[in-house]
Amino acid sequence: MKRARKKCGVWLIGAHGGLATTMTVGTLMARRDLVSKAGLLTETEPFRQLALPALSDLVFGGHDVRQTTVYQSAYDIYKDTGTFDLEKLQAIREELEEIDQDIRIGTAFNCGATIRRLAAAKARKRPGTLRAVIADIQGDLLAFKDRHKLDQVVVVNVASTEPPLPPSPALETAKGIRAVLDADGRKALRASVLYGYAAADLGFPFINFTPNVGSLAPGIQVIARKNGAPFMGNDGKTGETLVKSALAPMFKYRNLKVLTWQGYNILGDRDGQVLANPENKRAKIRTKDGVLSQILGYPLHTHVGIDYVPSLNDLKTAWDFIHFEGFLDFKMSLQFTWQGCDAILAAPIVLDMVRLAAFAQGKGESGLMTWLSCFFKSPVGVDQHDLHFQFHHLMDYVRVHLEGGEWKSGLVARTGQVRLPR
Ligand code: NAD
Repeated sequence: MKRARKKCGVWLIGAHGGLATTMTVGTLMARRDLVSKAGLLTETEPFRQLALPALSDLVFGGHDVRQTTVYQSAYDIYKDTGTFDLEKLQAIREELEEIDQDIRIGTAFNCGATIRRLAAAKARKRPGTLRAVIADIQGDLLAFKDRHKLDQVVVVNVASTEPPLPPSPALETAKGIRAVLDADGRKALRASVLYGYAAADLGFPFINFTPNVGSLAPGIQVIARKNGAPFMGNDGKTGETLVKSALAPMFKYRNLKVLTWQGYNILGDRDGQVLANPENKRAKIRTKDGVLSQILGYPLHTHVGIDYVPSLNDLKTAWDFIHFEGFLDFKMSLQFTWQGCDAILAAPIVLDMVRLAAFAQGKGESGLMTWLSCFFKSPVGVDQHDLHFQFHHLMDYVRVHLEGGEWKSGLVARTGQVRLPR
């Protein structure tokens, strides 16, 4: 019997950004077969056997603090980075223009000076109350769901990196967050917290692809879980950190002692411009740190530098120098240079996660999607950074569902057993 098709909304916070636009354009092109589905893990076996939403079942909308159009954002990317073919872009122009109807002005509340400078006046406006901002966000989400008669809406945070929030005990519990909102306690929260809370409160699945950890503050996680929403974050793993988490285990497998791992990243475009502010950069470096010592099991000298080089646009370059010691204490080194296009690497994995989050909610699962840890630099609730382990964890999840089983959260972490993919 043919499965009834379900329509799945994808609500992008940062809808006019490089990553969101690349994801939207890529989906529209791929579903018309104008481009291949390369980069999408969910288009390979055994993922294809899962009842995931098809690319043609996805409907896009979102918030941004800048006022432009999806087509204009796409055209700018074509001009600056050249990742889209102009003729193919023209072929989907009308569909892109329709998406504009579903993009609303978001809030730049307490996002720091760099993001405020990007934002339109309406997004910068001092909000009435925090509760009122949340009601507006939720109003936009519910109207989108109604307008397109969507079965579910997955909310994805792909907005700019905010300066990190000082730790606040109030965000640790659901009660604490509600109390802050009731008291209109503005200093404790940034926009990312308001978006995260809005989605959790509605029970919508949430993916935090940014280093803005407030979106998935512990109190928000409690609310989301209670309302039947699966969620996962933080900060997509697409470049230098991805290579690190694949390569570091090799040193462990040969008992080669890593003494130093020094990394230097240069990138252009808006993301690079935002990260050029030391405050915003601090959030990014924080999620990049900690990967190596966890995998290797000992402390080592590490440093990650990030600099803004406007002419590179979205083509990021990372140079890593690894100094290590072997038999007879002899010192050797490995260097690699990674030249990736940020949005091209990120867009398909966001799509993969949207489809898997929709699937999880359809199965009645809620809470942390630990099996998505391989997609994050700082996976919430998972202290295992080894990419191989994380990937097997994902494969375990898929296999449990293909065998008709019920997924028990933390299965691998509890049993310590990892089944290799067949
Ligand atoms: P971008 O600057 O091109 O896009 C960010 C968008 O968010 C912009 O359109 C901006 O106007 C919008 N925005 C900022 N604050 C907002 C708010 N409060 N509400 C709504 N919209 C807001 O950046 P990008 O390259 O698309 O990256 C997006 C995010 O994903 C960044 O936080 C980045 O660090 C993270 N990320 C990207 C990658 C990758 O592209 N490979 C990897 C990991 C993490």
